[in-house]
Amino acid sequence: MTTLFISDLHLEAERPEIGKQFVEFLDHEAVSAEALYILGDLFESWVGDDDPNPHYADMKQAIRKLSDSGVPVYFMHGNRDFMIGSQFAQETGVTLLDDPCPVDLYGQSVLLAHGDAYCTDDVEYQQTRAVVRNPDWQQMMLAKPLEERLAIARAVRAESQARNAQLAEEIMDVNAAAIVDAISSAGVDVLLHGHTHRPAVHDVDVNDRQAKRVVLGDWYEQGSVVRWDENGFELCEMPRDR
Ligand code: MN
Repeated sequence: MTTLFISDLHLEAERPEIGKQFVEFLDHEAVSAEALYILGDLFESWVGDDDPNPHYADMKQAIRKLSDSGVPVYFMHGNRDFMIGSQFAQETGVTLLDDPCPVDLYGQSVLLAHGDAYCTDDVEYQQTRAVVRNPDWQQMMLAKPLEERLAIARAVRAESQARNAQLAEEIMDVNAAAIVDAISSAGVDVLLHGHTHRPAVHDVDVNDRQAKRVVLGDWYEQGSVVRWDENGFELCEMPRDR
């Protein structure tokens, strides 16, 4: 049996081809998996579990179908969908995970994360992250009317796109010391994350041993998945017909 990992699909109604590939992935591959882990940024934006967006409703239903079939589905928040809450978990049958989250996979110790917490060179981003991940701030946001939240999300997204276009590439990648620190303090063999949209398998020197850092890719042009079984893991692209 294989355990599957995906992240950074950035599902939205404006990109229906990603949603179509996601549903096919759930129906065909994930249905016979041991478990599915979604490591954040499944959705391009999320303003609350009460958003009646029909595209999101279709995606929720597809996840529900998988969890109803008996495949455990785990979800970790990304920096786009950190407002996903307990109502979403109930509707889809997913189990929400903390970021980071240590797991044992076929005898290997692995730390799962979205990845944005390791981008410590982007100080301004980390400050914003601390604010929006605060439960009090989230309660304040959720108390606003849906329309207002959607307008705020549009504005924040435009601002973030403009900002990211100006930032140096290295600043938006993970910080090497933050990675070593995460791996050594968790005592794991592998760190598996998404967020940076730079799919790769890296060797990391941690004190006197070698660990690995596996980075999932985004789904903008094709799918990206890590397949893990008793023989180890594989980072794979999943081409899609356009
Ligand atoms: Mn992200």
